[in-house]
Amino acid sequence: MVSRKLTGTNQEFPIGKIVCLARNYAEHARELGNETPAAPVLFMKPASAVIGDGDTVRIPPYSQECHYEVELAVLIGKPCRAVAAEQALECVAGYGVAIDMTLRDVQNQLKAKGLPWEIAKGFDSSCPLSDFVPAVQVLDPHQLKLTLAVNGEVRQDGCTADMIHRLPQIIAHISAIFTLEPGDVILTGTPAGVGPVAAGDVMQAAIEGVGRMTIPVG
Ligand code: MG
Repeated sequence: MVSRKLTGTNQEFPIGKIVCLARNYAEHARELGNETPAAPVLFMKPASAVIGDGDTVRIPPYSQECHYEVELAVLIGKPCRAVAAEQALECVAGYGVAIDMTLRDVQNQLKAKGLPWEIAKGFDSSCPLSDFVPAVQVLDPHQLKLTLAVNGEVRQDGCTADMIHRLPQIIAHISAIFTLEPGDVILTGTPAGVGPVAAGDVMQAAIEGVGRMTIPVG
């Protein structure tokens, strides 16, 4: 079972479900030609998709276009069901760095047919995920710089201030649909600058004050 540490504590969380937002940064929604949604667009990745710092993303043979998406990851620390936005941040144990690896060609084919996205989003190694820093150490989760570089060249350089839906609303919305449990993770969407990687590339994802990961592509 895959688990993640809360750094500086003796707490370790087995990872549960990973609930992800799509199109939560306006500029990114535009770069893919999508409308900015009124309600959060959600999908999930299984825990089996998680890999760690230094592990390799393996692009499945059914795709020719695998994109990186750096995202702020939120670790849920206590059970939470239909929580009010005002209390939602009390459920957060910590913050981490994730890359939402996406088979863009496969996703576009599925979208065109109105089919679900799981095989484009939830394949093995599609969720590089760091350990988490305790929430109390992050003064404002909506003022964090996120970057992703490929082979040393910065491709994404965003700020969580630009999220359309913010954490209290996101957690309230998700928890009214899916009960959130300790070890569940929310991926909060990606800023602009997404693009492809190929075997031999190395990604470096970082969120200021939260963490960083180096992830090769195989
Ligand atoms: Mg994403």
